[in-house]
Amino acid sequence: MNGNLLQRAICLLLPTSCALCGAGGDDTLCAECVAQFFGAAAAVPRCACCANPLGSGSVGATLCGHCLAHRPAYDRTLVASDYALPVDQLVLQLKFGHRLALAALMARRLVAVVQQDDAWLADPPALLCPVPLGPRRLAQRGYNQALEIARPLARALGIALQARLVARVRETAAQSSVAPERRRANIAGAFAVPAPALALVRGRHIGVVDDVMTSGGTLDEMAAVLKRHGAARVTNLVFARTPPH
Ligand SMILES: [Zn+2]
Ligand SMILES: [Zn+2]
Repeated sequence: MNGNLLQRAICLLLPTSCALCGAGGDDTLCAECVAQFFGAAAAVPRCACCANPLGSGSVGATLCGHCLAHRPAYDRTLVASDYALPVDQLVLQLKFGHRLALAALMARRLVAVVQQDDAWLADPPALLCPVPLGPRRLAQRGYNQALEIARPLARALGIALQARLVARVRETAAQSSVAPERRRANIAGAFAVPAPALALVRGRHIGVVDDVMTSGGTLDEMAAVLKRHGAARVTNLVFARTPPH
């Protein structure tokens, strides 16, 4: 039996099995899956601003062409993985399968990312907030998956969590259901900083937590609102990033 098979057999035999390769699945990952999907082998050079993979022709560059041409309102994005098989299944099971325990797994992967990021370590956010859901979607789902990730993440990093720093004041269609050219209009005006939170935003470095980043339009809008109210800096912490087409 080679190491790979042995690892998988162990995953299957242990009472708490790996969420990616184990049959039962829970909120843990085996060492092999961490190495394969989140380790050095899976690491690619990414744009410092939007975390899109930098192409092979961009040696030494820190920003992708898109961010050079149209700088988003946020300053940085850190991601744990591309949104691709099999990691996307974790996101779908958290979001639509009520497997809330997976949020802790995602938080642990993000902790591993920031602990190796010099810029983060030199200037970490003063507080974290999740991308908020509108009241209707929150009532449908029963929880905000971004907040579920932000809670254990804030605890592990020792950073204050402000779940209501930004409110969603307008229900929007899911960005994934909207054509790319309509996404900016779909999300425009969706967020606001409630009056009690204004003093927390001004002059602060804010960390914005989400499960998935697709076009980045939602996070751009959120950062624009925070900057409008005086945020000094916005860093996105996102579990999985959809690769560009
Ligand atoms: Zn595994
Ligand atoms: Zn970029």
